[in-house]
Amino acid sequence: MTLIAQPAASLYINGAFVEGQGDALPVRYPFTGEVIAELHEASVAQVAEATAVAEAAQPAWAALRPVERGRVLLRAAQIIRERAEELARLETLDTGKPLQETRVADWPSGADALEYFGGLAATLTGQAIPLGGDFVYTIREPLGVCAGIGAWNYPSQIACWKAAPALVMGNAMVFKPSEETPLGALQLAAILTEAGLPAGIFNVVQGRGAVGAALVTDPRVAKVSLTGSVATGQRVYAAAAEGMRHVTMELGGKSPLVIFDDADLEDAVSAAMLANFYSTGQICSNGTRVFVQDGIREAFLARLAERVGRVRMGDPMDEETQHGPIINPVQAGKIRAAIASGLAEGARLVCGGPGEGAFVPPTVFADAEDGMQIAREEIFGPVMTVLGFASEDEAIRRANATPYGLAAGVFTRDLARGHRVAAALQAGTTWINAYNLTPVEAPFGGVKLSGVGRENSAAAIEHYSQVKSVYVGMGGVDAPY
Ligand code: NDP
Repeated sequence: MTLIAQPAASLYINGAFVEGQGDALPVRYPFTGEVIAELHEASVAQVAEATAVAEAAQPAWAALRPVERGRVLLRAAQIIRERAEELARLETLDTGKPLQETRVADWPSGADALEYFGGLAATLTGQAIPLGGDFVYTIREPLGVCAGIGAWNYPSQIACWKAAPALVMGNAMVFKPSEETPLGALQLAAILTEAGLPAGIFNVVQGRGAVGAALVTDPRVAKVSLTGSVATGQRVYAAAAEGMRHVTMELGGKSPLVIFDDADLEDAVSAAMLANFYSTGQICSNGTRVFVQDGIREAFLARLAERVGRVRMGDPMDEETQHGPIINPVQAGKIRAAIASGLAEGARLVCGGPGEGAFVPPTVFADAEDGMQIAREEIFGPVMTVLGFASEDEAIRRANATPYGLAAGVFTRDLARGHRVAAALQAGTTWINAYNLTPVEAPFGGVKLSGVGRENSAAAIEHYSQVKSVYVGMGGVDAPY
């Protein structure tokens, strides 16, 4: 067997590849099931070693001028762009996502984050607060060692989105990718070293949830940033609370996309497809509850079925492929169970279905009710549920009737209504006449059960730093004693 994606070793600690001392971690190509790399988990001692080297290296990194730290990130972004094709192919092997997506979405978005935060470096300042004589100034300090834990849908983008703001602020990071997709973060670590990052500032440990749990509770870790499911988020948040650690939680959702009668039909169909089928539906912010107003619904469904029928499903390395395999058989089974529940509860299957093997085709249910499982629970697969509505108030009320609040979208030509509905929807990220665009310039994150904290934009800096106030007395000390 040729291991076509075998890295130099499984972990990256203190500026070098190191073999893991824990259990075997075979990496499979989701399209064929073939083992493409043989990795090993980190042992508990190696997790401790990674946080210890990070703790030792961090003060000297934090002592550099911010612009010097920024320069390292900018160089790393440059290297990523130069190796774009090779990295896209590796991402496709790791995730099974079509090459036409990994070329434009995954590493390119990671490089954007490194450029954005690299460029922001020189603007990282505190405040001066005059008190009429005395004054206060603030210092924005790094937190120290940050733990990053990633999901499998955008492994390299997630690693970059967490590393870039953490590192530019002067923190060190220990990152644990999902066990399903361990390869991209190792590339990032090596690229950062090549770009001039000092040893120990960005480390990668591999492993299943237990390795993540050891990392979260390591006494040297000051902050945990997790991208994952709500259930994992609740466990990790609770574990982090013991040490009063800072957290960023980027979790799941069941986001609404509300399409009014006056929307551009073609754009609305495009957005609904992007909101459900990109990355084979494995996107946290997907608008999986598509509320379509009564007057446009049948036309919308007809056009949707026509366009979904043309989606090219198959070999992810084929440049024409638009829809790849599901990450693994367990996840494919969960998606099929959700489709079966939709049928059992009486929703109308417009197109798609359970598929076979690694593939679940783009699937659309209509005539669904809010109480059905397919309309309530995150499926994390290519399953769209179309719901009807009559009035704006009704759409808002039903869209918000969920414990989640990651994202939401509204399609209308009436801009006043667009802003009114965007304001009323309970979500951290909303779009008007667009969907699932997450440029690094914009804050991204959830409300309610979908998470706390924000990634991207200047807002992310606040989540990788703490503020110290320095009160400066300019006169005598006035004491009542
Ligand atoms: P999981 O919640 O299963 O896992 C997320 C990460 O946490 C993995 O690296 C996992 O390791 C690790 N982990 C699991 N248990 C623990 C623990 N007790 N302590 C520390 N770490 C642990 O999510 P998936 O990987 O299945 O990703 C899908 C989910 O992620 C969906 O719900 C999706 O909505 C959400 N997501 C959210 C995004 C956002 O930005 N809001 C973006 C992308 C996905 P391992 O996999 O090795 O078990």
